[in-house]
Amino acid sequence: MAAISSAPERQLAESAADITAGEAILRRQAQRESAARTYARSLPVVPVRARGMTVEAADGRRYLDCLSGAGTLALGHNHPVVLEAIRGVLDSGAPLHVLDLATPVKDAFTTALFETLPPELAEHGRIQFCGPAGTDAVEAAIKLARTATGRGGLLAFSGAYHGMTAAALAATGDTAVRGTVGEPDARVTRLPYPYDYRCPFGVGGDRGAELSARWTAHLLDDPKGGVQPPAAMLLEAVQGEGGVIPAPDDWLRKMREITAARGIPLVVDEVQTGVGRTGTFWAVERSGIVPDVMVLSKAIGGSLPLAVIVYRDELDVWRPGAHAGTFRGNQLAMAAGTATLRYVRENALHERAEAVGARMLSRLRGLAAHHPCIGDVRGRGLMIGVELVDTEADPDDYGALPAAPQLAARVQQEALRRGLIVELGGRHGAVVRLLPPLTITDEQAEAVLDRLAAAVATASTAVRGGAA
Ligand code: PMP
Repeated sequence: MAAISSAPERQLAESAADITAGEAILRRQAQRESAARTYARSLPVVPVRARGMTVEAADGRRYLDCLSGAGTLALGHNHPVVLEAIRGVLDSGAPLHVLDLATPVKDAFTTALFETLPPELAEHGRIQFCGPAGTDAVEAAIKLARTATGRGGLLAFSGAYHGMTAAALAATGDTAVRGTVGEPDARVTRLPYPYDYRCPFGVGGDRGAELSARWTAHLLDDPKGGVQPPAAMLLEAVQGEGGVIPAPDDWLRKMREITAARGIPLVVDEVQTGVGRTGTFWAVERSGIVPDVMVLSKAIGGSLPLAVIVYRDELDVWRPGAHAGTFRGNQLAMAAGTATLRYVRENALHERAEAVGARMLSRLRGLAAHHPCIGDVRGRGLMIGVELVDTEADPDDYGALPAAPQLAARVQQEALRRGLIVELGGRHGAVVRLLPPLTITDEQAEAVLDRLAAAVATASTAVRGGAA
């Protein structure tokens, strides 16, 4: 063995011996990956194995994963039916990459997906396989609506999140992520989303939602309102990144009415809410609205990248090749997606999401009663948000306390220390978000809440004591 001669070499060897393999990977990541990396900053975990909602890290620690690949893993990690479907394709010798050619795997996926759609859309619907990410599908939906209507403008909402490509980014509400690249597109008209806890009209409840709808209709009908007839309205039935904000059913129905009456295609982004997450298979089902376009990704690929739009056939105005892309034929994702869609449906996991989610919400509300720093607890199904507030600051004119992003970050760290992975979101990053798999057991749900409760207790004491 060659002797280690130089001082830097010796130092390297010593430091390599001192740190674990996982730490070395984290160090190399910090040195080599973009400053734009996100989850990796607040969750310094090196996953090496995972099953269901349990993730095991390189250092042997185990975590309950309430991030689920940003809401992707409806069945948790490595569910047997997903693995079996992937192995089935691999063992069959089928091609893995086929552009947009027809295959039995794709045919089965389309059939399984259509079986889940609102009947009106399934009967008169078309599907476009997009590039692999949610943002690709949002982009496609906007482009389709622009082509079909011959108009450019878009109606989008405060707090919206639709992705990182140009049109999707312009529709996104967060000016920090939009940066200068996603310059506020002059063609995007921003409308108020009914955010009950921080109602933009200062009234909240049904009245706040009514005012949001009224503002929308008024703006569209006012000949001097400054808004050109738009190509589409784009909305999330439950805002995810915006802070887990469920839109009231009546408001959604009103948006459907307003858009239908004015010939504006309604595009619902179900990228995060889809496949049972919110207690119904698709979030739109609760209100009964049928959108003109649905944007689907995340869970439909059963943990692999897949994104599609489904839309009413009268919008099918594209010429051949009008919306192309190399990676639209991911066979493994389609097989994993088919298995996931079928499993969720056959086992009514959306109902399970509703039941477990309701119990979790109720326990979290109990927790809020003991911790004034929990300003609001909300959600639908297994899409849950806990908004943290600064109890030492003055409330605004309408009684709401300011968001507490530092406290939320501390809660996330304390949760991690206790073996719980949670995500932050919301307007100021002050909402702790829970997106567990729909397969979560009752015991796991209790464990998640025990760990979160302990994290909130420790973090609120620490932050109050100035140790944040
Ligand atoms: N729409 C919604 C509602 C989302 O939550 C996301 C991702 N969080 C996207 C679109 C973008 O998806 P992707 O990150 O796969 O591009």
